[in-house]
Amino acid sequence: MKTVETDVLIIGAGPAGSSAAALLQREGFKLLVVEKQTFPRFVIGESMLPSSMTLLQEAGLLDAIEQKSFMRKNGAVFLRGDETCNFDFANQFTDGFKYTYQVPRGDFDKALADAVAARGVEILYRHGVTAVNFEPTHASATIEAPDGEKFQVRAKFILDCSGYGRVLPRLLDLELPSNFPVRESLFTHVTGDARPAEREEGKIWICMHPQDAWIWIIPFSNGKTSVGVVATPEFFKQFPGEPDAQLRAILMGDPNAAKRLAKMEFVMPAQRISGYSCAVKQLYGERFALVGNATEFLDPVFSSGVSLAFASANRAAKVLTRQLRGEAVDWQVEYADHVMQGINTFRAYVAGWYDGKLPQIFFAANKNPDIMRQVCSVLAGYVWDKSNPYVTQAERALGLLAKILGGQASKM
Ligand SMILES: Cc1cc2nc3c(=O)[nH]c(=O)nc-3n(C[C@H](O)[C@H](O)[C@H](O)COP(=O)(O)OP(=O)(O)OC[C@H]3O[C@@H](n4cnc5c(N)ncnc54)[C@H](O)[C@@H]3O)c2cc1C
Repeated sequence: MKTVETDVLIIGAGPAGSSAAALLQREGFKLLVVEKQTFPRFVIGESMLPSSMTLLQEAGLLDAIEQKSFMRKNGAVFLRGDETCNFDFANQFTDGFKYTYQVPRGDFDKALADAVAARGVEILYRHGVTAVNFEPTHASATIEAPDGEKFQVRAKFILDCSGYGRVLPRLLDLELPSNFPVRESLFTHVTGDARPAEREEGKIWICMHPQDAWIWIIPFSNGKTSVGVVATPEFFKQFPGEPDAQLRAILMGDPNAAKRLAKMEFVMPAQRISGYSCAVKQLYGERFALVGNATEFLDPVFSSGVSLAFASANRAAKVLTRQLRGEAVDWQVEYADHVMQGINTFRAYVAGWYDGKLPQIFFAANKNPDIMRQVCSVLAGYVWDKSNPYVTQAERALGLLAKILGGQASKM
């Protein structure tokens, strides 16, 4: 079998893979990216957070995105019946970008991967990693080409950025179940969305459905809008029929979505994804690290996935750069603990969303603007800002705040 030598093998060319490649290429390392699909390809996860903009800038990839005229996202609006909580990223606590974009991921991921390829990084599309082996001196991976031919890659290190493919967690038996219950999502793209005007146009809407579910509405600049619903499998059983009919009935069952989407037309069949929350036993090993969704995926409600993918890729690339230059590094402290701090902050917010604390806070009449700015920063993805008590003591602070604000708890 043919063998190819490289410094770093990157599995997957999604946001994690492309941004890690951009940073490592700049440091002069030899890279090979293998990507199972051809781009553009559909993937869910279309609403970004402002914290991603800083990371794209650092990777030298922001221009490639700014040129694309994606829909500008200035915030997030939570709606429950006739109650509204409107977060504007202009009013956040942490310094940093105050806007981001809503992105059809086919276009977004291709723009990133093309920018990386234009700098000379080799990306092999339609090539999948099927096996790995770790030796004291190197790592090797078996790659399957589109014609079924296999070859070996011999690398100093492997970054697993395979997202839902979860290549190394599966091959190395690192998978753990999530501590969140199984939820599923049904989604599509539509036209005919009656959007709000001007600054409000690009904000994500999160609608609390009257029956234990929530809906996302994500407007794109191409005239289409992503709509989806998240709930337990039991919830979906109440809605008979094909996925399209189910999704339509659920959307029309929420007063805010029904009003905005009254004239919608589906532009693709509804798709279902289930049991996507997952965790891992460890984030790194002797010659590998897990990055992005190959680590832990919590829940879509706060659009944290892509942001965490960029943040973990940024950190992994920096630690790896130092290791490849012969410096002593501590992957546990410098990588795993850092990444888990961000994941755990979001974990407290996801738990608070489903146990009713966050709806209680969001829809309270007597909200404190300074506190809401701190919460807004977390929703903007600034989950490493140690000066924000709603980051450092997220669970405790949200619990206390919900108690103080009182009101009607609505659990999902
Ligand atoms: C219902 C739902 C809604 C979501 N909404 C949002 C949202 O609004 N905002 C947000 O930020 N996140 C959202 N997410 C999360 C988001 O989808 C992911 O967090 C994000 O795509 C992770 O990026 P990544 O680069 O780690 O992986 P991916 O984007 O999944 O990229 C991984 C790449 O690896 C490739 N690959 C897989 N297996 C192999 C293999 N064996 N060999 C080679 N290549 C391989 C894949 O083809 C893919 O291109 C949502 C998730 C769900 C389930």
